[in-house]
Amino acid sequence: MVKRDYYEVLNVARNASEGELKKAYRQMALKYHPDKNPGDKEAEDKFKEASEAYEVLRDAEKRQVYDQFGHEGLKGQGAGFSGFDDIFSNFGDIFGEFFGGGGGRQRTGNDLRADTTITFEEAAFGIEKKIDVRKHVICETCRGSRCKPGTTPETCSTCKGTGQVIRSQGFFSLSTPCPQCHGQGQIVRDPCTDCRGEGVVVDSKSISVNIPAGVDDGSRLRLRGEGEAGPGLPPGDLYVFVRVKPHEFFHRDEYHILCRLNLSVSQAALGADIEVPTLDGETKVINIPAGTQSGERYRIPGGGIPHLRGHGRGDQIIQFFVEVPKKLNKRQKELYQELAEIDGQPVKEKIKGFFEKLGL
Ligand SMILES: [Zn+2]
Ligand SMILES: [Zn+2]
Repeated sequence: MVKRDYYEVLNVARNASEGELKKAYRQMALKYHPDKNPGDKEAEDKFKEASEAYEVLRDAEKRQVYDQFGHEGLKGQGAGFSGFDDIFSNFGDIFGEFFGGGGGRQRTGNDLRADTTITFEEAAFGIEKKIDVRKHVICETCRGSRCKPGTTPETCSTCKGTGQVIRSQGFFSLSTPCPQCHGQGQIVRDPCTDCRGEGVVVDSKSISVNIPAGVDDGSRLRLRGEGEAGPGLPPGDLYVFVRVKPHEFFHRDEYHILCRLNLSVSQAALGADIEVPTLDGETKVINIPAGTQSGERYRIPGGGIPHLRGHGRGDQIIQFFVEVPKKLNKRQKELYQELAEIDGQPVKEKIKGFFEKLGL
């Protein structure tokens, strides 16, 4: 599909103000909202297209890049969304504003954040981690009903149990949470004592998180429904932020791993078989050819990080550094001097001798 011009998508002038952009997007969002057009593929595409356009144009920096270079300029900057969830999690506050609370979608409890640190190797090959999370969960005594067991809540008379009241605004009727029952649809006269009528209690839970092979430092994983439950609300999501410990030998570059290998002058000149560590934990003997220069690289194909989505692995890249000795013993010194003579290159001793002869 050819990408349409963002201004055309939102049907605004190229110099549209922030307010005009928002207004235009609001209209599109109301019209093509997935909750209003369930199963309508065309509405879905329009909704995504408009969301992407608005996401770029509302950001002054991205808008400037787009104005100058078009879609091409934003490549690799992560413009666009992977799906509805992505749109709603980014635009939640905007939808809240548009639709008068409720985030524009079914309400949930709060999202939670957890952090975990893993080793370089764990990041490369994936690992299952247990993470302890303290969060609100549905009260078991009243099963979230908020009522003392044996009693039942009363249906709210203001909203007739729907939890929402309809407000008309121009062409649109918007529903907002009922002020009487705070959107619950029910009023509790006899609250549960275990949760004090909250319907939820705080609990610690150990959650097992499958960290996929290939994650990078700073990755964020989303665990749907593992966030907090709210009174009468399904749980939000848990976001796990992954930190990867640096490795003593390897550095990561996208899916390649880089490492540095020091060679002595003679190894570089004569060539050598040298054992190097690999990501898999075993060592591998690599053959360094005679005449290897400082900065040259050796590549082990497939020795890098497995691709996060898809198949294959990056490479292990070994970069050589030729180390010139800082201290020489007597014998080494003799040999280097002999080498210098063969090379026909003057060295310090000779130059000194030259000046001495001149009586300087
Ligand atoms: Zn309870
Ligand atoms: Zn009500």
